[in-house]
Amino acid sequence: MLNVLRKIVQDVTQEGNFAASVQLLAAHIKEALGTEVCSIYLASTDGNGYLLAATEGLNASRIGEVILAQDQGLVGLVGRRSEPLNLDTAPSHPNFHFVPEIGEEPFNAFLGVPILHQGRVLGVLVVQQREPRRFDESEEAFLVTLSAQLATSVAHAEAVGSPIVADSAINLIDDGYFKGFAGAPGIAIGTSVVMHPIADLDAVPSRPAEDITVELMLLDRAIEAVRNDIRSLIQSLTTSLPQEELALFEAYLHMLDDSALAGDMREVVRRGEWAQGALRKVIRQHVSRFEVMDDEYLRERGTDVKDLGIRVLAYLQRIREKKTQFPDNAILVGEEITPAMLGAIPADQLRGVVSVRGSGNSHVAILARAMGIPAVMGALDLPAYELEGITLIVDGHYGDVYTQPSEQRLLENISLLDQERVFAEELNELKELPCVTQDGWRLQLWVNVGLTSDITRSLDRGAEGIGLFRTEVPFMSQDRFPTELEQRNLYREHMEAFEPRPVTMRTLDIGGDKSLSYFPIQEENPFLGWRGIRVTLDHPEIFLVQVRAMLKANAGLLGDLRIMLPMISSLTEFRRSKRLIDQAYAEVVEEGVQVKRPQVGVLIEVPAAVYQARLLAKEADFVAVGSNDLTQYLLAIDRNNPRVAELYQEIHPAVITALREVARAVHAEEKPLGICGELAGTPAGAILLMAMGYHVLSMNATHLLRVKWVIRNIKRSDARRMLARVMRMHTAEEVSLFLNREIVRLGLSKVMPARSGKVAH
Ligand code: PEP
Ligand code: MG
Repeated sequence: MLNVLRKIVQDVTQEGNFAASVQLLAAHIKEALGTEVCSIYLASTDGNGYLLAATEGLNASRIGEVILAQDQGLVGLVGRRSEPLNLDTAPSHPNFHFVPEIGEEPFNAFLGVPILHQGRVLGVLVVQQREPRRFDESEEAFLVTLSAQLATSVAHAEAVGSPIVADSAINLIDDGYFKGFAGAPGIAIGTSVVMHPIADLDAVPSRPAEDITVELMLLDRAIEAVRNDIRSLIQSLTTSLPQEELALFEAYLHMLDDSALAGDMREVVRRGEWAQGALRKVIRQHVSRFEVMDDEYLRERGTDVKDLGIRVLAYLQRIREKKTQFPDNAILVGEEITPAMLGAIPADQLRGVVSVRGSGNSHVAILARAMGIPAVMGALDLPAYELEGITLIVDGHYGDVYTQPSEQRLLENISLLDQERVFAEELNELKELPCVTQDGWRLQLWVNVGLTSDITRSLDRGAEGIGLFRTEVPFMSQDRFPTELEQRNLYREHMEAFEPRPVTMRTLDIGGDKSLSYFPIQEENPFLGWRGIRVTLDHPEIFLVQVRAMLKANAGLLGDLRIMLPMISSLTEFRRSKRLIDQAYAEVVEEGVQVKRPQVGVLIEVPAAVYQARLLAKEADFVAVGSNDLTQYLLAIDRNNPRVAELYQEIHPAVITALREVARAVHAEEKPLGICGELAGTPAGAILLMAMGYHVLSMNATHLLRVKWVIRNIKRSDARRMLARVMRMHTAEEVSLFLNREIVRLGLSKVMPARSGKVAH
């Protein structure tokens, strides 16, 4: 039963008619628990009380009218305490509040549970019964479970401004505000383009049909194509399958008849929806009808309908794919934006990115930063699929998204954009100047790259070397492993462009959130699984080809080749990798190519490597810290999970201590020390790392001049004093507050982005 209700809860927002869905939910809960009343109260928009949004058993004509103040009645009490209230005779409770005409008089037993979302009370779910009795533990647990699931749907509906008591479709509010996490800095104003994974029916957005006749035609063509596929399937299986099995495919054909699915879809298109949206709606309606059936056989038929839907969708998308046009100021929006999607919109038309999933540390965010595209990640409540073609403001500094902004907000943001442009021009003057503090401490600013387009952007900003070449990025945009020659050409392009500067090539770092379609890795817990060096040590053939390509790419060039090994967690892994590099070197020399021995370094990103930093440094030519993963593993916080993104603090005292320990260990071995995590590209991070004695800060080209400006405007002695204070602090909040204050006190506040006009939420 719980499964059925879970499904209904999920449909609450998906169907786009929130009010009707909560009413339906109340009816189902009442039936499931065998109670006489089930009501849903939702926090009113002004936050001052609870509105009766649905009821089964009380006077339904009072829906949308009854409002209980926050401190009123048992509902108010449940909200205030944020915990269930289970009473056998509610009317005798001191908080009981009599509401005239609601029809509550006969009911004694009362069970109310709060609807909580991220610590906020969004409403109260109540069941009531005449018989004075306490609801038992299982009933209470049932309601608590449901309420937790309902909470997400309510938050979503609230965010999109769904009418909670009127029977109408979702109506996106003007000047809507959604909170996410800072993904890539900058402000973007543009028109949203919603992207969804190919052939994922649930991910298809609602979108008005541009031309109903065309959409009907597309639908017909797709359906006909699926029919043809099924017919040929039947033909080819006639001899091998018994008649009754074949009947299933015949049934598929019938389902696609005008009198069934196809007719319903056409009807939805005629009402103005595009073909893919109509397909999703109709398939979902039919599937949910099957899913609530008690008969297992019939329930399974839901899967058949879904399967048909996916087949039709695949054709619709194939037909459509070729003719996609994007606005000049596109803001890419999606449930889960992937690196491939970033590449789907021409770079000169892409202004911003908003992803419902992921966080500022996801690789998509890192890529967006590299491309200089403002991005907001983890905007969990954003109804991505309802946003096609509307104006959006993306504030990538603070993780804010505004939908259909008011004129005033637009003007504010246009003026912030102008300020950013002016500062960017000032920064441009710095590109030829060295990165040196006011008291003469010289620091190297290098870049992290992955896309070929990074080369020009990096050199344009005066990068002094490549500190991290994420070699997996070009691997990800292919449909097979690139050959040695292909790799060599690509690497050479970078090395020549940077000549005579040093280039740090990281060996393939796949696994975690970086997968190759042609080398799938399925794991329950991929960040603790087969990742980085673990994969390539198990596949020396991949590793050797890559290292050979790197060595050959460097042949005859002056710039140093530095090979960096990711995810090292033991000396054994480091030594085994070094042996393979020696082998590749010997092979290349044997082939007669004149190459220099590369420098081999270790990327410290696993806590174990922090504790063995000195031993690793002794055997390595250089050491760099991957603070993105190091933070993830030290704090045990998935860098991609928006739910815990707030806890992912790169300036957590534990992380800072680890960074300093590594610095001490590497200094003791007198080896070059760099860092290439995102921390290095932040003003506060750069100051602390410079104070610790990191020689090379490697970052996205986007951040380079900003960091150079900070370093050129500070004394190392001031930075060291700041570090000494920070080392005595206990929490990330303290550290962050202190560093921001110091940046202002030292007259460097220009690097902190202006905050756009905020509204209280
Ligand atoms: C890191 O982990 O800090 C790092 C530089 O590598 P990536 O972000 O590619 O995992
Ligand atoms: Mg890493």
